[in-house]
Amino acid sequence: MPIKQQLTPNPNRLIGNTVLLLAALFLIVNFILPFVLGPQIPGVPYSLFIHQVEAGEVERVQVGQNQIQFQLKTVDGKAGSVFSTTPIFDLGLPKLLEEKGVEFAAAPPPKNGWFTSLLGWVIPPLIFVAIWQFFIRRGGGGPQGVLSIGKSKAKVYVEGESAKTTFADVAGVEEAKTELVEIVDFLKTPERYTQIGARIPKGVLLVGPPGTGKTLLAKAVAGEAGVPFFSISGSEFVELFVGVGSSRVRDLFEQAKKQAPCIVFIDELDAIGKSRNSGGFYGGNDEREQTLNQLLAEMDGFSAENATVIVLAATNRPEVLDPALLRPGRFDRQVLVDRPDLSGREAILKIHARKVKLGEDVKLTAIATRTPGFAGADLANLVNEAALLAARNQRTDVAQEDFAEAIERVVAGLEKKSRVLNDKEKKIVAYHEVGHALVGSLMTSSGRVEKISIVPRGMAALGYTLQLPTEDRFLMDEAELRGQIATLLGGRSAEEIVFNSITTGAANDLQRATDLAERMVTTYGMSKVLGPLAYQQGQQAMFLGNGAPNPRRMTSEETAQAIDREVKEIVETAHQQALDTLKLNRELLEAIATQLLETEVIEGEKLHSLLSQMQSASN
Ligand code: ADP
Ligand code: MG
Ligand code: ZN
Repeated sequence: MPIKQQLTPNPNRLIGNTVLLLAALFLIVNFILPFVLGPQIPGVPYSLFIHQVEAGEVERVQVGQNQIQFQLKTVDGKAGSVFSTTPIFDLGLPKLLEEKGVEFAAAPPPKNGWFTSLLGWVIPPLIFVAIWQFFIRRGGGGPQGVLSIGKSKAKVYVEGESAKTTFADVAGVEEAKTELVEIVDFLKTPERYTQIGARIPKGVLLVGPPGTGKTLLAKAVAGEAGVPFFSISGSEFVELFVGVGSSRVRDLFEQAKKQAPCIVFIDELDAIGKSRNSGGFYGGNDEREQTLNQLLAEMDGFSAENATVIVLAATNRPEVLDPALLRPGRFDRQVLVDRPDLSGREAILKIHARKVKLGEDVKLTAIATRTPGFAGADLANLVNEAALLAARNQRTDVAQEDFAEAIERVVAGLEKKSRVLNDKEKKIVAYHEVGHALVGSLMTSSGRVEKISIVPRGMAALGYTLQLPTEDRFLMDEAELRGQIATLLGGRSAEEIVFNSITTGAANDLQRATDLAERMVTTYGMSKVLGPLAYQQGQQAMFLGNGAPNPRRMTSEETAQAIDREVKEIVETAHQQALDTLKLNRELLEAIATQLLETEVIEGEKLHSLLSQMQSASN
């Protein structure tokens, strides 16, 4: 367990105690003393009071602000006893009393002693002043220090030797680990780098779906390097008063610099780092913008010479981040933390299974095979569920059948979030992705296909095909764009050929293909029919591949129809091209898809050699 330590100076004890004391006095004087000293009148519930009024047993009533006193009717010459009750907001009461002929009046103002009322007047302001003072002290007198809301709430974990998180606690994200080992090295021996004149990276962005171990990795970096770990979540910044977020950021970095070398971890970076022009309808969000600006300023402000502070941040929506955050000197390194593949899942299961007693018959490999799409957190949860089931079944260790039942439970939960595929879906996704890969590998310009995966990734994608450009590209010609469109349609085309049907999974591909085709016609002037005219208003940056197309400029009805025809022609030609390619390579499609279903991921050399067997229709 990490030892949680508040490094912010402890609130001034003396003042805190004074405030408490005054508050207690205030209570005693105002509420308890009058009660103790005043006449002791037995209290009854309000309902009983009403009941007695209705029964005509009440003689007179005195209605006070906090209390109703009432006297029962005289019976046999003996005066009725007096009771009290606490009033509730009851507008019908006077009417009821009237009806029953009860004598009633408001209570005279309470006659406290001069001492009590003096205290009542003097003490509240005193308390107010004391609280004020308390916050001023705590605020440290900084420019924003009037009240403490501006102060950072960053939690600081300084992990004890025995219980620190290390890379051994993280599995299934080997690439991310490799990248972060270097960061650990920076933190341990910054001199080695600064002596040569190398610039130590300031920001590393961990990108990946929830529960894949981003927070865990950040802690492991701190644990491995043996440095303090400041953590704060981006969502804590939203909905604050203007100016508070930025002063929190400033304060956080102030503290961090004092503790350098150290790690500042910003979870949910997207909550503050949303692109400034993605506001759309909402217009600007001043608070978020100021917080973001402050963060940028802080990251620019410290240099390796004065402090080794490395900022790690996590997000599952890298696409919404403000580009300013990703510039050199800020979060210029991005590390993908993806859902684990088969062997990764087994390794994660091993880590978490250490904490429970496993039966002889448990086979983690089999469990890993049955849990595609599970992230690290899901697997940790699975092990715990299985242990709970074992305990419920009065077993002393966890058996394979407990795992089987636990998988069903966890899957049911995940299915609601649509993250687990059944076998049929998995098969479709496999062919779909191989379709992209095969068509993509023939379109040489669109980059080499580096990885095919059917491990669900991100929020929406069920599988993915990763194409890396072989060189930086700034200009694309018509053939290349057509190639990209064909690649996008490759997935759907494979589904058509193999299953003779189409699923909803290709919607995003189609959207992107259509946008691209539309831009060819309306923005890049690539249509012979329409000529080199820009039919779209304004400029849309090219790299925003799936951004919404700009509104069209005013065009005549015929032109609009011509645009539609041209777009359709481009997309359909590309579709045909994809279909032809896949039909020609049908056997390879089957072979790769079968293998993908087994291993879930194919990448690197293995993939290249498979794809090199492709036949091209043109030669
Ligand atoms: P994230 O920050 O990416 O949402 P967390 O780091 O908070 O995910 O993961 C939550 C928990 O799930 C961790 O504390 C750990 O127990 C488990 N977990 C997640 N990913 C892994 C992993 N790759 N290896 C081992 N355990 C993991
Ligand atoms: Mg997290
Ligand atoms: Zn697709």
